[in-house]
Amino acid sequence: MPKHVFVTGGVVSSLGKGLTASSLGRLLKARGLRVTLQKLDPYINVDPGTMNPYEHGEVFVTDDGGETDLDLGHYERFIDENLSRNSNATTGSIYQAVLAAERRGDYLGKTVQVIPHITDEIKRRISRVAIDDVDVVITEVGGTVGDIEILPFLEAIRQYRNDAGRGNVCYIHVTLVPFIGPAGEQKTKPTQHSVTELRSRGIQPDLIVCRSEQPLSEELKVKVSNMCDVDERAVVNAADASNIYELPLILHDEGLDAVVCDLLDLETPEPDLSSWLGLVQRVEESVEPVRVGLIGKYVQLADAYLSVVESLKHAGFHHRADVVIDWIQAEDVEGLLAVDRLSELDAIVIPGGFGTRGFEGKIAAARYAREEQVPCLGLCLGLQAMTVEFARHGLGLVEANSTEFDPTTRHPVIDLMVDQRDVTDLGGTMRLGAYYAVLSPGSKVAEAYGEPVVSERHRHRYEFNSAYRKRFEEAGFVCSGTSPDQRLVEFIELADHPYWVATQAHPEFKSRPDRPHPLFRELIAAALRHRRTRSGTASPVRGAVEPSGAQTLGAVETVD
Ligand code: GLN
Repeated sequence: MPKHVFVTGGVVSSLGKGLTASSLGRLLKARGLRVTLQKLDPYINVDPGTMNPYEHGEVFVTDDGGETDLDLGHYERFIDENLSRNSNATTGSIYQAVLAAERRGDYLGKTVQVIPHITDEIKRRISRVAIDDVDVVITEVGGTVGDIEILPFLEAIRQYRNDAGRGNVCYIHVTLVPFIGPAGEQKTKPTQHSVTELRSRGIQPDLIVCRSEQPLSEELKVKVSNMCDVDERAVVNAADASNIYELPLILHDEGLDAVVCDLLDLETPEPDLSSWLGLVQRVEESVEPVRVGLIGKYVQLADAYLSVVESLKHAGFHHRADVVIDWIQAEDVEGLLAVDRLSELDAIVIPGGFGTRGFEGKIAAARYAREEQVPCLGLCLGLQAMTVEFARHGLGLVEANSTEFDPTTRHPVIDLMVDQRDVTDLGGTMRLGAYYAVLSPGSKVAEAYGEPVVSERHRHRYEFNSAYRKRFEEAGFVCSGTSPDQRLVEFIELADHPYWVATQAHPEFKSRPDRPHPLFRELIAAALRHRRTRSGTASPVRGAVEPSGAQTLGAVETVD
């Protein structure tokens, strides 16, 4: 039976609980354990799929089409395992299941209550991922202790220790130790209060992870240990790191994995962290600057593009390049302003999105990249913007558009799939999750992946309109990957451009820090070439490692 680690947070939100849980996952995996991670979210949306990215950051899509919390992206990147929709549960989804059972009469006339019915459903969600081929399940509870909506989750994880057996469960509480300027001191009082709050729900933490700007002194650790009644070695400090991939090493040095193994009676060898050390060293060596413009519409919140940003960084690590992201509001590049805003860039990324706002700016950026030979990667809506751009300025179809933005356009080069055009209720009609694509031999994407068939995750409703395919291809626009039945265009590129490539999928969900996604890897390679040509230094890429090959697979709308 798997062991369980529950991670809660206190004092403030955004403490990096997800990264702490992910790092622990990596460390336990490095000890030879089979690990899975899960996120319980106390909000009422059934999943984050309907949320505006400004509310909650990016929606992370799993292979099986789950629209999940962005922390699952951290989990996958750190433990290097593909998770599923079961790895995320919200209050909304839990109530939905309980209410459906109530309507079916499953409760046999009983009064349905938070305890035990909601808490039982939460426990069922936890048990669902605790399958036989997993040694440790790490469950992160979203929100902060003290929140009203977190209470059923705390009650459920409290009960879980009794159900699973005392020695099989441990609780980690992540808190903040702030530095108070006028006093010139780090303060543990918020941690004490937070632990008191957790205890009032019946949970005594076994281990406390103290987040702080500067490292904590031994003295303060002793204080936290005394006040919060945890072992001294179970007070673990996570001081700010220069990059997130350092965190597993920092937490290992602090003894996190060793204490968790002791608490759960897991006998393992010391973790083999050699490959992770290699990664962190590579990150530190990634110094050659390369400037990538991200033409987005939610650019005030970097989390809205979290996986895209991480994928760019991963590609940078591969080439020992320091990817500097220029966050560009798509509306700012509409029309002629494009040139001013884009002239300093070594590459452009046009990410996904929904809704009209900013679409013309994405088209302008695509045009600039095409005409000025700037490397450009389009992701989902990015492919659609690049297609409309080529139709308007390459084919002269000046009224070309996506029917998402102009339903009566004369040239619907991006449109709903034929069998969806009459659907009036669009809820649940998105193409979600992993789909295979067949790549054209000799194309840039086939070269990048190094594989003829690839699988990528999707989250969209509109597609390249194949009725226009012949016209496009005659003008040099290459549809370089399609669905196996050839109905859907999955990848596009230009033959006579260094790198003007796009995919209808979201490859950013599959990039890993030590295995960058091929499309991002090749974008940064092209960006470095572009940069060196511009500055007249044609030095080879220093220390680049060999391509790691393809990433093959292991399937409601966001408001504007
Ligand atoms: N809005 C577009 C569609 O639904 C693109 C979606 C996306 O970029 N994820 O097809």
